[in-house]
Formats: sequence, C-alpha cells, structure tokens
Amino acid sequence: MNPGDAHADGRILILDDDPQVGQTVAWMAENLGMQSRATTNPTRFFELLEEWPPSHIVLDLVMPAMDGVEIMRHLAGRHCQARIIISSGVGTRVLDAARRAAAEHALPVAGVLPKPFTTDKLEDLLHRGTELAAGETVAASHLPPEIPPAWIEQALKTREIEVAYQPKVACGDGSVMGFEVLARWHHPQHGVIPPDRFVPVAEANGLIRSLTERVLESSLIWMAGRDAVESRVTPLTLAVNLSARCLDDVTFADHLAGQCRDHGIEPERVTLELTETAAMEDTVTALDLLTRLRMKGFHLAIDDFGTGYSSMVQLTRLPFSELKIDKSFTIAATASEEARTIVRSTIDLSRSLGLEAVAEGVEDAATLELLQELRCDMAQGYYIAPPMPPDAIADWLTAWRQQ
Ligand code: C2E
Ligand code: CA
Ligand code: CA
Repeated sequence: MNPGDAHADGRILILDDDPQVGQTVAWMAENLGMQSRATTNPTRFFELLEEWPPSHIVLDLVMPAMDGVEIMRHLAGRHCQARIIISSGVGTRVLDAARRAAAEHALPVAGVLPKPFTTDKLEDLLHRGTELAAGETVAASHLPPEIPPAWIEQALKTREIEVAYQPKVACGDGSVMGFEVLARWHHPQHGVIPPDRFVPVAEANGLIRSLTERVLESSLIWMAGRDAVESRVTPLTLAVNLSARCLDDVTFADHLAGQCRDHGIEPERVTLELTETAAMEDTVTALDLLTRLRMKGFHLAIDDFGTGYSSMVQLTRLPFSELKIDKSFTIAATASEEARTIVRSTIDLSRSLGLEAVAEGVEDAATLELLQELRCDMAQGYYIAPPMPPDAIADWLTAWRQQ
C-alpha cells in the first residue's frame, strides 16, 4: 500500500531520535486506544509508512540523521495524507520554519505537541483537524502524483471547479475592502483538490485561460448578486489570480473587459494578482497586455512579493498598483526580527512607490496589530477569515461587522 492510499484510522507512527521520548508518546497513544509504532531511524520510518500507513505522525524536528523539515519534504513527495504532529523542544524559530515548510508543501499539520508531553494535549491534537483553513480538506486518497489534464478539462465542463472567497480588510479600521477569489476543485471521488496541484497542470496544458475565465465569471456573477442586495458607497472588490501563461494572447485583455461589462462590474473593482513573473520576462506581449489591462481600469498586484521571481525588477518594469507581501514573511513577523524587518521595509517600499501594501497570511491578532503599527494598508489571512464558499460570506460579514 502506498502512503497516499487511505490510511487506517487510529494508527500513530512516531519518529524521534530519543527512544525514550518515542516510547512515552507510544504509551500515551495506546492509552488513548490507538495503535502505535515508534522508531529512531528515518529509513525505518519510511518503510513503516509504506507497510503500516498511519493516520497520524509524531515527528521530532531535530535529529542527527535527517532533520524534521527534510522528512516533511519527503512526506510531501510521497503525497502523505497522515496528520502530522510536531513534537517540540526546539525554539520558536525552528518551529516557525517547520510550520512554513509544511504549509508550503500543503502537508496536513495538526499542531505542535509541547514538552512536557501530556496525554491530554496529545488527545487534543489527535481530535483536532489540520491547520488548513476551516472548511478546507486535504485531497483524499488515490490521487495520482500528476493530475491528468483530461480530468481538469472535464472538471471545467462539469463545473466541479468552483471558487472560494477570502476577505481582504483595511488594517486601519478593519473594514472589508473585497475578496480574493481562489479556485477550488470538489472532486466527487478525491475530495477537495488544492489549486497547487492542478493550477500548474492547467498552465502546462493550455487550460489556464479557461480556468481563469471560469474563476472570473463565477466571481463576477456572485458580486453582481451582492451588489443587487447591498448598495455601498465604496463597492467591494475582487482579486483574481492571473497566471503569466495567460499573457501571451493579446485578445485576453478585451475578453476580460467584456466579461466585466456583461456582468455590470467595472474593471476598477477587479485586481489581477500576478505571480511567476519570470515566465513573461522576455515577452513584449506581456508588457503590452498588462499595460492594456491597466488602461482598461483593472488593478494589478504583484503576488508573493519577496519570493522567487516576484522581485524588484518586475516591480519597476510592470504597471502594478498593489503589492502582496508573501505569507511566509507575515507568518514569521511576530517571532522573527528578520521577517519583521522585511515586512516593514516592504511596506515602506510600497508607500514610496505609491502602491497599496497587502499582507497575506495573517494568522493571529498580534500579527494584525503589528501590521497596523507598520501602517500596512490591507490584511488577509486565517485570523480574519479562511477562504469560504460563497454561501458562507453573508454570515461572516455580519459577524465581522458586529465585532
Ligand atoms: P496565493 O495567490 O498566494 O493565495 C493565497 C493562498 O494562501 C491560498 O491558498 C490561501 O488559502 C492561503 N492562505 C490564506 N490565508 C492564509 C493564512 O493565514 N495562512 C496560511 N498559511 N495560508 C493562507 P490556496 O487557495 O491553496 O491557493 C494556492 C495558490 O494557488 C494561490 O496562492 C495561487 O497562486 C494559486 N491559485 C489559486 N486559485 C487560482 C486561480 O484561479 N488561478 C491561478 N492562476 N492560480 C490560482
Ligand atoms: Ca494571490
Ligand atoms: Ca500570495
């Protein structure tokens, strides 16, 4: 059986280089009615993962042979579905890095088991969901390592691919500015397939334009519906992710503007968030197209700023109006001096260039307070709200505005 297959419930696999720690956790798990296996050896750990697929993994971060972050990378490579509990004893920086690594690989982390270990705390973590946002689940079993493009094509036809909305709020007074639109695939057999798994396949197989148009279409229809029931002085905005692969077709700008016109939403209310800017480094078409989109009124945001190709060069070359600070910096900002410095400098840079700064990945109150202090314009993250299905938005808005 491979580790991506359905795992047995109530099985806990422990990897810790201290056999005594492994034994303690195993003993606590058994007291809670679970089966357990503990090992001190990473090679044995991966063998057990195959032979005896667990429902939960307890992972020590600091080990001599292979550290926990590396183990997580291997787990992601094997599309491991077991929930991970990190056994700590290390400083917050290492824990932060580990959480980030897990989030980047979309590994389901249930949380951290602090020392001294107690059965109560373990029980709590075993019953808890993962740190993925509420309402989001990890893709279920039997998903092939590379999703066949034909599946995506089919899903676009059958409308299995829908959207979730995550609010963006003003840091100053918490008022809701708009929503980022995130693609969600509800597969009848495989559960929710995360966009990180299918967007790259869509990009590589000529399906990204249809996907983008579908996502924009759904959100425009939804927004037009909202406008009809709630008139506002400042209308809410939509932020749609735009793949660089869409930028090699000059007709795209007209098409997007046409979609907005059809649904009565001005392009000024739509921000297009761009990542992977390297893909368009050399194309004059991309620059032309982005300029035309701006002229038609769309806003452009540089996404995941500070990582990969979302760099200074792109910032000066392209007509952006908004900068999104990558969540890896935001998440670490309260615990790490370095991350805080990057966030502060990026906000200052945005202000100097006349761009709006948006911090994504706001996971707690302390981070939101810090962003207010640093005079960041907008915030987005699980602390404010996870990405939500459209029918959950009205209740969330009511609750948020009361608070
Ligand atoms: P992104 O554009 O950076 O979107 C933000 C991601 O961060 C979303 O993941 C969101 O669920 C997650 N997130 C939001 N708040 C928090 C938080 O507080 N903490 C943490 N750890 N994460 C948070 P999601 O929905 O899985 O999307 C992943 C990526 O897939 C997106 O990253 C975007 O690049 C891509 N994507 C999603 N929908 C589309 C689409 O329609 N078209 C294209 N081209 N790309 C899309
Ligand atoms: Ca985005
Ligand atoms: Ca981002």
